[in-house]
Amino acid sequence: MQGTVLYGPRDVRFEERPDPTIIEPTDALISLPLSCVCGSDLWPYRGIEPIDGPTPMGHEYVGIVEEVGSEVGLIEPGQFVVGSFFASDNTCEICRAGYQSSCIHRRPGAPTGAQAQYARIPLADGTLVATPGMPPEEMIPSLLAASDVLGTGWFGAVAAEAAPGKTVAVVGDGAVGLLAVLAAKQLGAQRIIAMSRHESRQRLAREFGATEIVTERGEEGAERIKEMTGGLGAHSVVEAVGTQESMMQAIRCTRAGGHVGFVGVLHNVEIPGEEFFFSHVHLHGGPAPVRRFLPELIDLIWNRKIDPGKVFDLTLPLEEVAEGYRAMDERRAIKTLLRP
Ligand SMILES: [Zn+2]
Repeated sequence: MQGTVLYGPRDVRFEERPDPTIIEPTDALISLPLSCVCGSDLWPYRGIEPIDGPTPMGHEYVGIVEEVGSEVGLIEPGQFVVGSFFASDNTCEICRAGYQSSCIHRRPGAPTGAQAQYARIPLADGTLVATPGMPPEEMIPSLLAASDVLGTGWFGAVAAEAAPGKTVAVVGDGAVGLLAVLAAKQLGAQRIIAMSRHESRQRLAREFGATEIVTERGEEGAERIKEMTGGLGAHSVVEAVGTQESMMQAIRCTRAGGHVGFVGVLHNVEIPGEEFFFSHVHLHGGPAPVRRFLPELIDLIWNRKIDPGKVFDLTLPLEEVAEGYRAMDERRAIKTLLRP
């Protein structure tokens, strides 16, 4: 098959790769009708997250099951399935508590890389969720979004305790932040404030349910949120970037007793202990347990209640994947969809 490999900073190649095969009896092989580039792929792409040699890329996927190992019982060839970036057994105590991305058997969800034609998925019965049938073509991007960016934005909103009557602020206007807006809306938040300075992203945030936009960031952004909330701060804040500035912005936007859901992968972030101590803010986040939310998200998409696929604003042939990375790196695209 052909697939995507990162060789070093800004060196993405689309090349001939070995066809994935069943290695463990709990594996499934799926063919990928579409794939995409994730904001978190930009960390190794920019050289901020080091890689040990050439690395197959892509961890968001939906697909058609081609073959299953001898111990797979729930998933069958011919099904359309949605997975996520960590494989999990979905049976251990941690999984049953809803933290499948910390499963005691956790491993990469698509170790052969999902920016490719085929992928091997470990722990298929625990990791994959089948859709009710074969989805129509135009629904596939939304199901693909559920695999990571929607699931992650959703976890951010849940971790921030977005709920009816609450004011939710979202720090970060990438795909995850925008879908956290959609999640907050679905969870019934009263006011949803998207923090963004880009017009096209503000427009999408409004489409997804943002009631207000704040263009200031950092200290000024936090001040603005306080002004808008009677000096108190938001009840719930989703952090969807992962830098020192964005994390502190999120904590400072939150009222005493409020909750920050942080889902941007934190890089070199240090939280000053004394300020945090006196903030009375709850922090919860980490790699989203997307598997927890997949049945509900698939149902919402299948019944056309939500259309998260709108975050894809650039579509390229899979072999032009390197341009897909460049466009996201330069913020010319929110999220790139790739067609094999
Ligand atoms: Zn588990």
